[in-house]
Amino acid sequence: MADNFWTQANVNNPADLRTEFDHLIDGYGGFDGIGQILVLRKMSSDFCVCYDTVQGSSSDCKYCNGESYTWAETYHRAYFTQTFGRGITGAREQSVLEPPGYMDEGKALVYMKISAIPKPGDKIFRVRLNDAGSLYYPIERIEKWKINAIEDKRYDRARLAYYICLCEREDV
Ligand SMILES: [Zn+2]
Repeated sequence: MADNFWTQANVNNPADLRTEFDHLIDGYGGFDGIGQILVLRKMSSDFCVCYDTVQGSSSDCKYCNGESYTWAETYHRAYFTQTFGRGITGAREQSVLEPPGYMDEGKALVYMKISAIPKPGDKIFRVRLNDAGSLYYPIERIEKWKINAIEDKRYDRARLAYYICLCEREDV
């Protein structure tokens, strides 16, 4: 990591949070970045051809994979985490009986760049990566997550900096 990664912003040169976040995800100046490659399945509002108003959709539909709606997929670098502390963004139900640091295997937070433009209802797949963090071929989907809610993180003049996606696990 570049020595000045965290200190390059100062009074005369205020941080551009959007750029800082992108650098944190993608890497910058010798720092590899904390992002990992994910697949974002962006759901459309158009029903798939398989959808039947009475029967629903076929789970083995080769066009929509049982989603009922058409979609398009794109690859993104994002930060994925399941290590919640207490009370962070409501991603987990807090119980007095649970010790701090309890992790709910069914919930995750995914930090995404604004260029990803995620929305609630979209799906995220984690894919198998090699040791260098690159995609492993053939592409193997290992986890599926549904975005339940999104917080858009803003800074100066309400400029959008990044998204936090609150996700719930689905069957792959
Ligand atoms: Zn279909």
